[in-house]
Amino acid sequence: MTKFYITTSIPYVNAKPHIGHALEVVQADVIARYKKIEGNSVYLTTGTDENSLKNVLASEKLGMRTSDFCAVNSSLFKELDDKAGLSYNVFVRTSVDKDHAKVAAILWNACSVNGDIYKKKYRGLYCIGCELFYTENELVDGLCPEHRTKPELVEEENYFFRLSKYQDRLIRLLESGEVKIIPETRLSEILNFVKSGLEDFSISRSVKRSHGWGIPVPEDDTQIMYVWFDALGSYLTGAGLPSDGQKFKKLWPADMHVIGKGIVRFHAVYWLAMLTSAKFALPKSIFVHGYVTVNGQKMSKSIGNVIDPVAMIDKYGADPIRYYLMKEISTFQDGDFSEKTLKEVINNELVGNVGNFVNRTLSFIHTKFGGKLDEQKLAEGALLMTDIHSLVDDAKRMLDRSQLNFALLKILEVSSKGNKYFQDNEPWKLVKEDERAAKEVLFVCANICRILGILSYPYMPSTSEKLLSYFKEKPSKFEAAKTLTKRFEIGSPKILFSKVE
Ligand SMILES: [Zn+2]
Repeated sequence: MTKFYITTSIPYVNAKPHIGHALEVVQADVIARYKKIEGNSVYLTTGTDENSLKNVLASEKLGMRTSDFCAVNSSLFKELDDKAGLSYNVFVRTSVDKDHAKVAAILWNACSVNGDIYKKKYRGLYCIGCELFYTENELVDGLCPEHRTKPELVEEENYFFRLSKYQDRLIRLLESGEVKIIPETRLSEILNFVKSGLEDFSISRSVKRSHGWGIPVPEDDTQIMYVWFDALGSYLTGAGLPSDGQKFKKLWPADMHVIGKGIVRFHAVYWLAMLTSAKFALPKSIFVHGYVTVNGQKMSKSIGNVIDPVAMIDKYGADPIRYYLMKEISTFQDGDFSEKTLKEVINNELVGNVGNFVNRTLSFIHTKFGGKLDEQKLAEGALLMTDIHSLVDDAKRMLDRSQLNFALLKILEVSSKGNKYFQDNEPWKLVKEDERAAKEVLFVCANICRILGILSYPYMPSTSEKLLSYFKEKPSKFEAAKTLTKRFEIGSPKILFSKVE
């Protein structure tokens, strides 16, 4: 079996999860489940990024210990992962995982041995929100472009990573596609950044400015590692470094990092350079998604439009939320979340199209034929099946290219075609005149229901399993959807989706 090691980014825990986090969780999971049914041995790592100064400040504001604050907020992200159905193998908490602290030190020492870490006095404008030093001309009216706050002037002696040394190497890696950026349209923006000249970056903070929170720099107790330097290492921790060498050897390098567009630079530039320096193999691909707006506006606490994904899942169910996020939000561009549209999508597409088609087909077989249907010779239905099989191929091809929303549209088309065929042929009338013809229609429709069961697995795993259980099947390869099932014995069907108000 081919292994497929996939990671989500690890979010900061200074605030609760919002709907944008759910987008990434579901995207990573759709890819993971698809790879799994296609026969890969899939391993998925997720977690939370806890060693940042932001968490210290947020916890102090609440009068909480930083470790307690991180534990509480990390559990909220875990709750989201569990409720959204993320099929993860490991959840790394960077402030408590003992292996993770070792990984950060291993990475540091390896870069150091390679001559890429040095100490220098530094004076810079630092935004705590971004955990980033800005140059004067990157600021907007003297303020952080992300947070609109005045960065503080910091002067201290820090360790630096020799990023400048890796400029040509990175250009080659990215241009050759050795590390693939998905979608390709993001590549030029990264290359422009690299070609504009890379400067060494600071990878530690004083213990004082870090409030003592974070992973200590090896052999220097006055310094704490910069949060990004340790956070990126979580991908190595998840793969088993250092305590499970066998596992690590099997899993590393990562096949795909799933991240948001705001942290491309850290992954496609810093991370690749750090791994090269430390002599680790490089990830095969970096999948970059956009941001989610709410009713056309950027989510913000002050506007009060932050959508809690767990509350949405509790209200509407995981599968409908997964479906909505994958279909209504473009895979690689920014997209909008609106509860009004969500309800329309559930009622029109899941209830009105997919649910209706499956329910009318299975109920018909159950009530008219006692749930049993033998193989029928296909006349007109054969043409439709050819059409459907080419939609299966389309969906597969698109999923192979990580085009999650386009693939889902093809799957929805399978249901629409089935529905139309049922409607056009009116089996409820046909059964009175020509039972054999009615059986042919139902035979085709039952096969399409089974196909929907297979194709929907990456997107709506519970629905898929429920649907396939009528056919006494488990989720399988998309290719298997193209084999006709010859004989059906279907129990009493239950409703797949319920209408929402
Ligand atoms: Zn900022």
